Amino acid sequence: AEASLRQSQKMEAVGQLTGGIAHDFNNMLTGIIGSLDMMRRRIADGRMDGIDRYLDTALGSAERAAALTHRLLAFARRQPLDPQPLDVAAILQSVAQLVSHALPENVRLRLDIPDGLPLVLADSNQLENAILNLAVNARDAMPDGGDLVISAARAVPLEGVIAGEFLLISVADTGQGMPPEVLEKVFEPFFTTKPIGQGTGLGLSMVYGFAQQSGGTVRIDSQPGAGTTIALTLPTTRSAPVPQSGVQPAARKGAG
Ligand code: ADP
Repeated sequence: AEASLRQSQKMEAVGQLTGGIAHDFNNMLTGIIGSLDMMRRRIADGRMDGIDRYLDTALGSAERAAALTHRLLAFARRQPLDPQPLDVAAILQSVAQLVSHALPENVRLRLDIPDGLPLVLADSNQLENAILNLAVNARDAMPDGGDLVISAARAVPLEGVIAGEFLLISVADTGQGMPPEVLEKVFEPFFTTKPIGQGTGLGLSMVYGFAQQSGGTVRIDSQPGAGTTIALTLPTTRSAPVPQSGVQPAARKGAG
């Protein structure tokens, strides 16, 4: 009974998701169709003024629709992981470089990475994507500016809980934080609080999937009005082979 209840809840969630996506996509199509229609009328009337504006609107909507389907496809495909020994310091530096171009002036970016970290066993593309997603979310959470800190450190071993050696990668911001009702849902695919066209709600669910498949964990500490820290724990090459089921990721709220 328990299992079938969970299954039906899942089906309901999937229904809501596809409904939401279809709704967003339809809005984008409506924008395109409306603009094209206005253009046709103008042309029929022999008026070329304002055509540019309709063209821009149609193009903008089409680009947002394309971006949405791209991210959907990437999510559906979920490329198989190719775990390799990775130099996390180098990867974080290159991601930070990328991110720095996308930051407003009032957001300060800092890297905190000690020398001599062990190599991590993970898929490099997916790790880059994960950090990029976290950093972009951190930026979006600080519309009035703040600090974005990307750091890495050896994870403190939890005897008897996690076997092997792990590395902790965290992305911290001093942004708006998340209320409990948001925190509860952030790992669900397609859950977003961002305006239509700006958020797909796939970032954190991908980070979650990546951590789980890599044999790591992801954990969120968030305080409304104070900020958010999202910590990824990944196995180093000195850990046992990547466990198939992985360690269950844990989400929790509050500091500490
Ligand atoms: P998206 O960024 O497209 O909305 P995500 O899955 O990455 O999708 O995030 C889901 C939601 O989690 C966001 O819409 C936002 O409400 C919340 N969130 C994620 N990261 C942060 C953060 N650093 N600070 C505050 N809220 C966040």
